[in-house]
Amino acid sequence: MRVEGTIDRRQALTYLAGGIVSTKNYITNQQEQKEIAPTPFEVVSLTFHEVEKSDQILENIYPLLDEGYTPLSINDICQALNGSLDLSNKKSFFITLDDGLKSQENAVVAASQAESAWGVNIPLLFAVMTQFNYYNDDQIPLTTPSYNDHVHEYLTKKDILQIIENPRFDLANHTLNHADLTKINDNDLTGELTIAQRRLSILYSEAGREEVPRILIYPFGKYNHHVLKTVSDLNFEAAFTTENDTHYSAKKRYRLGRIGRT
Ligand SMILES: [Zn+2]
Repeated sequence: MRVEGTIDRRQALTYLAGGIVSTKNYITNQQEQKEIAPTPFEVVSLTFHEVEKSDQILENIYPLLDEGYTPLSINDICQALNGSLDLSNKKSFFITLDDGLKSQENAVVAASQAESAWGVNIPLLFAVMTQFNYYNDDQIPLTTPSYNDHVHEYLTKKDILQIIENPRFDLANHTLNHADLTKINDNDLTGELTIAQRRLSILYSEAGREEVPRILIYPFGKYNHHVLKTVSDLNFEAAFTTENDTHYSAKKRYRLGRIGRT
């Protein structure tokens, strides 16, 4: 079809797609976009694996609280990435726990100790694998560990449900099998991400929580261009790497950095 010279590119694309967009709507959309333009922000994201005792967490967060840093939840970070929360002038920190290890129950203890000492809520994001010994979604016994490598002790389904009964604690997708996403075929890549996400949703619903956030933590911190595109196509809100980077922005939403602690 012929596109008039006065029509802008966006309108032309809409016409070509078979839709009609009025000039009025276009202006409104532009204004909305301007109002919610997200600003880059800085977050000290700390990540832990084994937490032998709660002090390991406390000795990391007390100096930050002393210096006026605010603890963030994953929801705060998503809002800031989407432009509905401005964190650009704030000193903030964020805590993630990788792999669903049983010892991370000490992080829950630490959060409660810090809350009593400082009067602030300390949100935690647990990146768990959801293999659950290959049980079907609806047949996982409560005592089943989330993962099994015959090396570490992992949180069971019951442990995870107890953790997320507290709305300050959230789960992130860490795949079913701790898969290196850069080394598997497309079917497996989609399966590792979507089946794990469905299992997280089921856990949230069993704990009486709203829909689980769509957050991915790359196993081994590994991703490539194809993985980034898949994560975006599957509508994840954000994804975290193991790169030491505290600068967050909407542009980097699938490459958010974290500082390793244990
Ligand atoms: Zn991991």
